[in-house]
Amino acid sequence: MTHPPTTRLRTPEEIALNAGADWPRLRLPDPDVFAERALRLRQLAAGHALRDYLLLLAVVAEAQHARLATYPGVPLPTPAQADAAAHAGAPLLATTTWPRDAAWRSQLRGLLGEVLANLPADSPARAGVQAVQALPDADLEQQADRLLAGRTQGLDLAGAPLIAAGLQLHWTHLVRASAGALTQPFGMPDDATRCPCCGSPPAASIVRIGGAVDGHRYLHCTLCSAQWHLVRVKCAHCLGTSGIQYQALQAVDAKASPQRAPVQAETCDTCGHYLKILHMTADPQVEPLADDLATLTLDLLVGEAGYAPAGHNLLLLFGEEDAAP
Ligand SMILES: [Zn+2]
Ligand SMILES: [Zn+2]
Repeated sequence: MTHPPTTRLRTPEEIALNAGADWPRLRLPDPDVFAERALRLRQLAAGHALRDYLLLLAVVAEAQHARLATYPGVPLPTPAQADAAAHAGAPLLATTTWPRDAAWRSQLRGLLGEVLANLPADSPARAGVQAVQALPDADLEQQADRLLAGRTQGLDLAGAPLIAAGLQLHWTHLVRASAGALTQPFGMPDDATRCPCCGSPPAASIVRIGGAVDGHRYLHCTLCSAQWHLVRVKCAHCLGTSGIQYQALQAVDAKASPQRAPVQAETCDTCGHYLKILHMTADPQVEPLADDLATLTLDLLVGEAGYAPAGHNLLLLFGEEDAAP
């Protein structure tokens, strides 16, 4: 099913009319999620003020991709646990309740070893990678707890994105392996602002193109990369539908191009929060975490206007006052 190109947003009412149509409300992470992120990071790094950081993260994402394919077996939820989560309207693999298997730490250290092997010998990032690799288990667990709770107090901000990469790898594997082992592991829990698989906040949202998902907007999980549906023109923080506005870095000339900017901030005047929205119609290669990092000046712009972030990008190098929305 394809739609003709459209330059106006569909209203929630119009979209609700399509409810029940045959398209997924939840898209699980595919095996190439990290490879696609790495490609996009390299693309965005060219000529970018954050070039070195984006390239470091590309090396990290390439190592995540390699490890995802060979991740060791870890305990998975039972059908009874899946039923209980569905009954409670809670995410099955919530970071607050699902125990982190110790494998995440050995996989993280292996991941960082691959990153070191692929970084240039004179890269200034090497020392930071080695420092995280050398952290004792207890310190890694403590940092992971803070990261997943969105607490920046006591968080080692330089090491946080690297530790986050290990947690992303672990949870992406957990979600994919659970989907392979159970018939119906994930439902759509009560809280539409959180990932249905792991309960984490979104990094950004994306309006997809192609096939059954064409024109639908999904929130993209900062941790496990699952995508869940949220109608357009709706706040990803308070779920309100009035006072929603869009801001972009560059005004797009409507006469020169019928497209909108690839990345916009969707701001809500009801609760004062915002989340970025990426448009595949404007650039089919947009990737939520990569494009969010490459448009930090847009965060500054809407931050100055008084809006607070509704999402959280785990790969962000520096902390926010209140990372948990
Ligand atoms: Zn998730
Ligand atoms: Zn709101």
